[in-house]
Amino acid sequence: MSGRLAPSPTGELHLGGASTFLVAWLEARSRGVPLLLRVEDLDAARVAPHAEARILDDLAWLGLAWDGAPARQSTRGAAYEAALAALDAAGLVYPCDCSRAEVARIASAPHEGDEVRYPGTCRDKPRDRAFRRAPALRFAVTPGALVAFVDGLRGPQRERVDLRAGDFVLRRGDGVFAYQLAVVVDDLEMGVDHVVRGADLLPSTARQIALARALGGAPPAYLHAPLVVGEDGARLAKRAAGVTVRDHRAAATSPEALVGELARRLGLSGGAPTTPAALLATYDRARLTRGPVRAWGPGAAATRDLTQERAG
Ligand code: GLU
Repeated sequence: MSGRLAPSPTGELHLGGASTFLVAWLEARSRGVPLLLRVEDLDAARVAPHAEARILDDLAWLGLAWDGAPARQSTRGAAYEAALAALDAAGLVYPCDCSRAEVARIASAPHEGDEVRYPGTCRDKPRDRAFRRAPALRFAVTPGALVAFVDGLRGPQRERVDLRAGDFVLRRGDGVFAYQLAVVVDDLEMGVDHVVRGADLLPSTARQIALARALGGAPPAYLHAPLVVGEDGARLAKRAAGVTVRDHRAAATSPEALVGELARRLGLSGGAPTTPAALLATYDRARLTRGPVRAWGPGAAATRDLTQERAG
């Protein structure tokens, strides 16, 4: 039994990540279980130089300590390969050489704007055909199956995976394992029984539960922490100018001031400077807001742009 922090080292830790990790920390510590750290560096093309070290340093600065050595998805290819082989042996994987543009053209997007439902174009095609491009591998979702779960903050949820995403990708054509596969394999193998993450991932949860069950595992419980939005109310981009932990550090904000203000916006305290450890004494999940929570920052001037480091 454990919880986890799962940062993607694609940029600076912003207040959205800090907020989610604060809740994940409080949940794990209040349950008395280990809190593991997993660096989600699956897609090398998106990893920013120095981002991992800076995020880990920000977490320590905030007082969000984890247990044990960090795990890295980039080193776990063999585990993902084995899971793919098991799913394949169960007849749940098929190759798909549709291009992204082809899928977008024929697919329907039933829910949110950016979610595309794959219509199953390649599902029944022969596997030994000549492929037009290196094929992705897709999970053959059971038609009609309803996934139900109870979110720790949002209550009962139910979803038809075939209607939301259709047969989703497990490994891309370029060989990169999909987030959906990696996160499920990792949570099962790391013994994570309670996932705390941002509300933006709520639409992925039914998919991941279906995958965990197909792998013979018991899916974890989930709590989707409040979404943190920019000062303008829009979703925080990965490089959220002005509202990263580094921006606050550069403006001489103390970690206690930052944690206190985050806790206030989350509904957990009155806003006085504090530490995660001190918040634990009065932590009550029932007081947590469903959000969204508005980010704040000392201004964009202090933002360090990691893309320039990457170029240089
Ligand atoms: N690495 C993901 C993120 O930074 C979190 C994935 C998860 O918690 O399932 O958004």
